[in-house]
Amino acid sequence: GALRAELLQRQERRESAARTYARTLPVAPVHAAGAVVTGADGRTYLDCLSGAGTLALGHNDPETIAAMQAVLASGAPLHTLDLITPQKDAFSGALLGLLPGELRENARLHFCGPAGTDAVEAALKLARHATGRRGVVAFTGAYHGMTLGAAAVSGPVRMSGAAGPDAVPVTRLPYPYGLRCPFGTGDAERSGELSARLLESLVTDPGSGVGRPAAVVLEVVQGEGGVIEGPDGWLREIRRITAEHGIVLIVDEVQTGVGRTGHFWACERAGVTPDILVTSKAVGGGQPLALIAYRPELDTWPAGHHTGTFRGNTLAMVAGLVTLRAVAERQLAERALKLGERLRRGLREIAAGHPEFGQVRGRGLMIGVELVDPGGSPGPDGAPPSDPVLARALRAACLERGLILELGGRNDTVLRLLPPLVLTDEQADTVLDRIARALESRA
Ligand code: PMP
Repeated sequence: GALRAELLQRQERRESAARTYARTLPVAPVHAAGAVVTGADGRTYLDCLSGAGTLALGHNDPETIAAMQAVLASGAPLHTLDLITPQKDAFSGALLGLLPGELRENARLHFCGPAGTDAVEAALKLARHATGRRGVVAFTGAYHGMTLGAAAVSGPVRMSGAAGPDAVPVTRLPYPYGLRCPFGTGDAERSGELSARLLESLVTDPGSGVGRPAAVVLEVVQGEGGVIEGPDGWLREIRRITAEHGIVLIVDEVQTGVGRTGHFWACERAGVTPDILVTSKAVGGGQPLALIAYRPELDTWPAGHHTGTFRGNTLAMVAGLVTLRAVAERQLAERALKLGERLRRGLREIAAGHPEFGQVRGRGLMIGVELVDPGGSPGPDGAPPSDPVLARALRAACLERGLILELGGRNDTVLRLLPPLVLTDEQADTVLDRIARALESRA
């Protein structure tokens, strides 16, 4: 307890006011294995955040650690800019074999800076260069990162940080969903049809002032935006429209990729292949790595058009290769699908006795519970208002009971679970039990 307090106090004096997790999750972790984190005070937690969805195999996966130790001991260069190494060659080969649709074995890879936001930036720049156009269509509630371009195509002001409105000319369309449906239909499918129709009219009607954008950028399931699934029909329509009008479709699989949603890539369920796929987080096996994979025809940019010092992280490629193989060979996407269903079933049972659980949703191991105030006056669609106070209290009550989870959504009113794909059934039941007890403690 004393060490934890000391660490937290010193951090409070030394670090930026912009830090986030450190404020809402006052844990000073000193040990971690799989889905279990131990704090400096000796308490253990089940980690349903897993490095913001990065640790597909959990903390300190033994095979990942062994592979990293072996390369560390081998004398292989760890920092190689963008030079080829056997480790990079092996990682690239494995990734190419796992890409969706026509990108498989066929795509060009561009290794970016170490974070997801760098890869989004590269995707936007490539689309603009390849088309010679500037504008980008993005969706409400989106989250693509914190650099200027990525933030500009993100949704709420709180998420887009200091990007300012004119970093990139962005046209924002409503992201389709059911609860609090932006078109007032209360129906996700219908909302998807309308969202796609709006895109088509914007890009075909000269009077719209939008013209043909360089790209449409989207998440198949919005994560930070509150765990909202775009309907498959919507995604297929967006693919059809972008293909017909020569608009580059960028699918941001930074959070959804590498098995988390029950497919290796979330876009695969709808049978949609993007022109540019953006990946980071789990693809580096817990180490910093980000890249884009794109149709070879787009590969028109000159050398040096998008570079960065940290593009050859050998450790990340070694760790990432272990994750790619494990997810493919141990069928962890299927595991994510099953475990996600088990967790959502349990959460719906809790919801049956607690109207504060307004909606339980998600896909695979991206899980969200929208918290509402059942006594509050309903919005235009008849749904009760969301409840940010309850959401914060519940996150804290879960932490008290040894469960790390996060909030997301338009209003930070969605409890989000992003556990490692290797969470056991028993651990999943413990997660449910801790959420139920946290909720009871509030009743
Ligand atoms: N895109 C999506 C869909 C994300 O969820 C995130 C991170 N949560 C990012 C991009 C940005 O990644 P990073 O934080 O590594 O820059």
